[in-house]
Amino acid sequence: MRSASGIQYFCVFMIIMIIASECLYYNIIESRWRFPVLSMINIAFLTCAFIYGHVFMNALGSDLSFRSDLFSHTAIAFSVVTMAGIGFRYNRGRQAAPAPTKAILAIGAHPDDVEFGCGAALLHYRKQGFATHALILSSGENGLGASPTPLHNSRRREAHKGGEVMRLSSLTILNFPDCGMTSRRDGIKSAIEEAIRKYNPDVVFTHNNFDRHSDHRMVFNATVEACRNVPTVLCYENPNTPPEFRPNFFVDVSDCLDFKIRALQCHSSQTRKSYFKPELIRSIARVRGNQAKVRFAEGFIAIRAVLGAM
Ligand SMILES: [Zn+2]
Repeated sequence: MRSASGIQYFCVFMIIMIIASECLYYNIIESRWRFPVLSMINIAFLTCAFIYGHVFMNALGSDLSFRSDLFSHTAIAFSVVTMAGIGFRYNRGRQAAPAPTKAILAIGAHPDDVEFGCGAALLHYRKQGFATHALILSSGENGLGASPTPLHNSRRREAHKGGEVMRLSSLTILNFPDCGMTSRRDGIKSAIEEAIRKYNPDVVFTHNNFDRHSDHRMVFNATVEACRNVPTVLCYENPNTPPEFRPNFFVDVSDCLDFKIRALQCHSSQTRKSYFKPELIRSIARVRGNQAKVRFAEGFIAIRAVLGAM
């Protein structure tokens, strides 16, 4: 009976250990999940270790034949190796992911604007250790066609999926009216000022002053006023930006362009629109890359730029 019991506990323990190990790997090394998830997994792990230890000690005390059970020794060895492995990964993860020292805030009027304008740059700087935050001022309800309701507005979910692809540190979506921002200037400026107080960004990305969309120009004006104390402010384009937009600041995004396209594809309610085509996104990045003498780039107009900020 003891032997069978030992095998059963060992099997359960092994499965739990494998799951816990993989969860910790994705959480710490890949930085996919947040702290509460890590805490829950740690608690589950410790509980399992305690239960196993308790069962083992009971078996050892009441039935010494358990000592000769091959599986019990294997279980001990496995648990030691697993815990050592988790400890190693944990320490490595802590060393590999230092706290961000610089922050970027990207501001957009509608859920897909940030991806179009600076999606690849955000991922590029995220990989370099920046904290990257996005502030979207509307849920883009007009982009859904006839009579959308807040409950059925899928664009928020799409934006969050895109944010995951760009590995954003945070994404905030507000409720200013899509195509009605010109009458909400003070509220928009206050919302941007609040985000700047919260994130203290070194760099802000925003719309440009040439776009035909009145929401974009309103967000540009409100951002420039709200960012009076931000060192670097860069204006991005989108596929419908008119030719007057002439970038004077470039970010080499050759390593991140595919992820920008993947992030845009998350906006599945919009992808039927011609300007969502990957070939167009790639072409714009290639042109900007040629201007910057790299393969692929995103182009910006700098309101001001501090070299050490990026
Ligand atoms: Zn827009």
